[in-house]
Amino acid sequence: MRRPPDHAPSDRPVGRVLRGDARVYHVELDGEVVQAAPRGRLFEELGDVRTPVTVGDWVVLTESGDPLGIEEVLPRRNQLSKVSSSHDPREQVLFANVDQLVIVGSLYKPGFSSNRTDRILAAAHHAEIPCVLVLNKVDLDRPKDGEVSEYETISETYRTAGYPVIGTSASKELGLEELKETLKGRTSVLYGASGVGKSTLLNALFGLELKVGKISKYWSAGKHTTTHSRLIDIDGETEVVDTPGIRVFRPYGVTKADLRFLFPEFLPFQQRCHFPDCSHDHEPDCAVADAVEDGALATSRYLSYVEILDELEPPPEDVPTVDGSAEEV
Ligand code: GDP
Ligand code: ZN
Repeated sequence: MRRPPDHAPSDRPVGRVLRGDARVYHVELDGEVVQAAPRGRLFEELGDVRTPVTVGDWVVLTESGDPLGIEEVLPRRNQLSKVSSSHDPREQVLFANVDQLVIVGSLYKPGFSSNRTDRILAAAHHAEIPCVLVLNKVDLDRPKDGEVSEYETISETYRTAGYPVIGTSASKELGLEELKETLKGRTSVLYGASGVGKSTLLNALFGLELKVGKISKYWSAGKHTTTHSRLIDIDGETEVVDTPGIRVFRPYGVTKADLRFLFPEFLPFQQRCHFPDCSHDHEPDCAVADAVEDGALATSRYLSYVEILDELEPPPEDVPTVDGSAEEV
């Protein structure tokens, strides 16, 4: 296990949350995994957040009890949140205290989803969590004569956006050294749809024995409970958070006005839009829309942007009050 952060109390038991649901968590404490349940008080202070504890948290535990009590969640250095579900607008924190997000997509079976990728990239950018894109199953990428490979097209789009891209084949053992080097000594979240090869990659890289082709079914079993991530301690320094496939990731706490800054490759163009606060959606003289038209920006990224924009809350508007002054709503 990694060392607790400097702000952890030294005279009380402090552990790292590996996995759990809102009631019971598996916590690594002094090299052992113990069960712990958040104290009722933590639920009272929640506000708009669904659960008080998340994977990756450092928590202060009670000295005794079965399960032990989680007394306190230590301040997080970062966290990634989504809107709980289409019926529940509350904040769901998927994990906390990580070094990077490794988004795993496959080129075929299942095919690469730009929409899924772009949603999580925008949310991670907002949360200031660095991202790496892994394109797995490159062994299945066999372009016909004269055609550009799927790998080249997709990697070009994301490298242009500023993200490192690693092509891998878990089955043919390609790109594994590079990926291992990226993960080594860091806490990384592996995020991707089920079936892209996350378990196969982790097994190949670290000699784990995760069930291939089954784990995601296990995690997504049961309705509306597809929310359990788990932290795997590889060697005391390297940690991997395995996340379940999330069908539609809706970033939490991102406004329409924020979104235009979360697609990094748009920035040089949007300075030239006619309106300084152009949303690149319907305005005239939009340099971003023009760049998409010209092929300087990827259409797939723009489509993701517009789709997410559509779902987000509009910024607060000034509405006149009875005495004529403006009030924020
Ligand atoms: P997960 O749901 O992301 O954990 O995906 P799995 O690791 O369970 O893999 C899903 C399926 O894809 C399995 O049948 C794997 O054997 C297969 N698979 C994984 N990686 C590769 C790869 O690099 N190339 C090919 N051809 N198949 C792969
Ligand atoms: Zn614009």
